[in-house]
Amino acid sequence: MQGVVMHWVALALAGALGCATKAPSPVDGREAERVAMVATQIERRGIHDARVLEAMRRVPRHEFVPARVVDAAYDDRPLPIGHDQTISQPYIVALMTDLAMIGPRARVLEVGTGSGYQAAVLAQMGADVYSIEIVEPLAREAGERLARLGYAVHVRAGDGYRGWPEVAPFDAILVTAAPPRIPEPLKEQLRVGGRLVVPVGVGYQELVVVTRTATAFETKDVIPVRFVPMTGEVQKP
Ligand code: SAH
Repeated sequence: MQGVVMHWVALALAGALGCATKAPSPVDGREAERVAMVATQIERRGIHDARVLEAMRRVPRHEFVPARVVDAAYDDRPLPIGHDQTISQPYIVALMTDLAMIGPRARVLEVGTGSGYQAAVLAQMGADVYSIEIVEPLAREAGERLARLGYAVHVRAGDGYRGWPEVAPFDAILVTAAPPRIPEPLKEQLRVGGRLVVPVGVGYQELVVVTRTATAFETKDVIPVRFVPMTGEVQKP
């Protein structure tokens, strides 16, 4: 893929409020499933941040999965989204969001847009979200979907290994495909106090949080996870 192929910005901003996102239609017939998903899959596993839970209750996950699996949208598992890729399990989306400690106007980078669901959860929390996807049709579909649903997310097709330097530094960076080792360019695009949440490893993967302090990077392992591999430059010897 050659450089920056596409860049969509959904400009459905609630401008008067200066807010970075617009909530989707509050009534879509699947609220009860989302409430149950949050209670049984997320809160029960120890995530209690009210803003994360509320975002997970609001984003219509069923809009982010292919029609053939729409009935399973709120199940406790990842689902296929085409191109050999998956939308993460709801709990993993909530966990990564929680670990990233997203403030109301945080600037956030996501590497691996996929369906756009994780980006929507971040935008729902009020973050200014930049997301990069290496599979061009997925980037295009996710950009269109997010715009249609009213999420002002900046989506770009390309390799996210080198981040998005034009808009760095970020308060948080979430990587939703697993590199064999922590990508140095992403660490460098963190603000002091910022956090990089990334699954790392080949075969065995660990979810890692890197926090940038004034003088160093602190790395903490969280739990074993299973993500699709990060492709592109990071795989080159
Ligand atoms: N966050 C997504 C799930 C992502 S699955 C969601 O909410 O639906 C991981 C995605 O990372 C895949 O779509 C894959 O194509 C993408 N990906 C893999 N390597 C990448 C890279 N180097 N740069 C950007 N995207 C990458």
